[in-house]
Amino acid sequence: MTPAEGTTTRSCGHRECASPDRERLVTVPTAITLVRTLATIGLALAGASLDSLELLLAALVVYWVGDMADGFAARLLDQETRVGATLDIMCDRISAALFYVGFAWYDPSMAIPVGIYLAEFMVIDMFLSLAFLAWSSSSPNYFYLIDRRLWRWNWSKPGKAVNSALFAVLMVWTREPWLAGVIATALLALKVISLVWLMRLRLPVPTGCLHTVADTAPA
Ligand SMILES: [Zn+2]
Repeated sequence: MTPAEGTTTRSCGHRECASPDRERLVTVPTAITLVRTLATIGLALAGASLDSLELLLAALVVYWVGDMADGFAARLLDQETRVGATLDIMCDRISAALFYVGFAWYDPSMAIPVGIYLAEFMVIDMFLSLAFLAWSSSSPNYFYLIDRRLWRWNWSKPGKAVNSALFAVLMVWTREPWLAGVIATALLALKVISLVWLMRLRLPVPTGCLHTVADTAPA
């Protein structure tokens, strides 16, 4: 048996496990991801240019509802792919960035909490969220099979709610810069701790020699 047969054509069939045969760019959930992201971008930019809090909040609602819908569709239709999960994670970042920068523009007292939150969400949380790619997982939702503690604090339902909803809801509701700042800092601390836990797991790296790949790849 050649290495190719052993690693790329056989799969165990678990939905939690990635399979090269299932990977494709165009799927229903990924189409939902792209549509909800375009709608969020349009609403957030319209909100910024018209100085409209309603449009900004509509952008946030479309982002959140759309983010639940694409995940639901992926599980329902059995179309979970690593391509889709990765695009979903990246689309979440531009959606959040536009809403939060727009909100800080609307209410400048929130600029510092928003800056802390975006550093957490767009850099550390993005890295954590993409870490599932180092394993054979089809999405971060199955990280409990890799590390239960990391999953509980980052990708379980309460973990996700704390990471995305808590800060936005309190910021919009209370307009208390100190409260928002404390929550953003606590989230940043949680993500830094999660990063330390992740690195202690020893991030797997695909084995093999790149020069060998180049020698045997079809021209
Ligand atoms: Zn499996």
